[in-house]
Amino acid sequence: MNVPGIRGWCPTAHRPMMSGDGLLVRIRPRSGRMTVAKARTVADLARRFGNGLIDLTSRAALQIRGVTDEVHPELLRALVAEELVDADPDIEARRNIVVTPFWIAGDLADRLARALAQRLVELPQLPAKSGIVVDTGTAPLLQDVSADFRFERDGEGGLLLRADGAERGRSIDEADAFDALNEMAAWFVQTGGGESGRMRRHVTKVSLPGNWRFAVPADGGDVWPPGCTKEGMIVGVPFGAMSVDALSGLLADADPGCVQVMPRRCLYLETARPVAHPAFIHDPSALLLDVAACPGGPRCTQATVSTRPIARQLAERGLGTLHVSGCAKGCARSGSADVTLVGRDGRFDLVRGGSVGDTADRTGLSETQVLELLR
Ligand code: SF4
Repeated sequence: MNVPGIRGWCPTAHRPMMSGDGLLVRIRPRSGRMTVAKARTVADLARRFGNGLIDLTSRAALQIRGVTDEVHPELLRALVAEELVDADPDIEARRNIVVTPFWIAGDLADRLARALAQRLVELPQLPAKSGIVVDTGTAPLLQDVSADFRFERDGEGGLLLRADGAERGRSIDEADAFDALNEMAAWFVQTGGGESGRMRRHVTKVSLPGNWRFAVPADGGDVWPPGCTKEGMIVGVPFGAMSVDALSGLLADADPGCVQVMPRRCLYLETARPVAHPAFIHDPSALLLDVAACPGGPRCTQATVSTRPIARQLAERGLGTLHVSGCAKGCARSGSADVTLVGRDGRFDLVRGGSVGDTADRTGLSETQVLELLR
């Protein structure tokens, strides 16, 4: 049986993860935004030190692929010098904050994200995958983005902090936001959250304090599709994988002022010229937007199947949400999908209406059988 090597940590630039094509070096742009000059720098560094491929993760991080042990120290020095990575490995590891897209300088999301980032070192030691979202636009947009601590607004525009998995949160003032986060993090640690691993699991075992389950978050907003907006252009990145040539070409053609890396594997090019680049998704109704597929074999050593070719074929069939995973770790999608294929021993298990961890409806299918079955 193919048992994936579940790693209880996330790669960072300081501590990259080995994959089938070399080290993965992760960059988390601050509040998800880079000037176009920084975006070009990322592309240049990926060309110089990696294998020319960049991932865009579902939590709005970038990963330079194919880095060798020999060049990693030089790449790291360059990333720190460019202020794309914090010089302190501990702070860089803790800087797992996803900010609502479309924030503007000086707004609540910007102020909160900056304030939190300055004091992360004061938080207790949390499980390595712990994350924060600052989702304080008029409507929450990041409710399906993996995180443990969620800053959101209530229906009247007030601020709240919600433990992931709880339906309601705690009303807070902006000035007290970090202290409230610190208090919730301490509660998580002191009540055995380390063993639960993630907040969502922990709140099913341990009751939150009553006044932390009171404030009702505003209704979630619509997800943003690729296309042009008044202020710029959103493009989808198929499977979150792009070559440095594609990224450089897009930036040259669209000439944006800034680039936001968005959750759900999209880029927001601010003040961009409208362009259509063949390596990106511009059509808001593109079926590929509903498809997640990890790199699979041979790029990932855990995989026993290739993933993206079959995902592309199945995408055309409009099966709804589709997740093709090279193994049971399920890196590309954390939630359920209409159809999930999980690689195991060179074949696929098929889960309908569930996720990689759910009981499969069919097991041991060849690629041909999958294509026959999912017509
Ligand atoms: S889900 Fe895919 S990328 Fe993640 S470990 Fe498994 S094969 Fe590798």
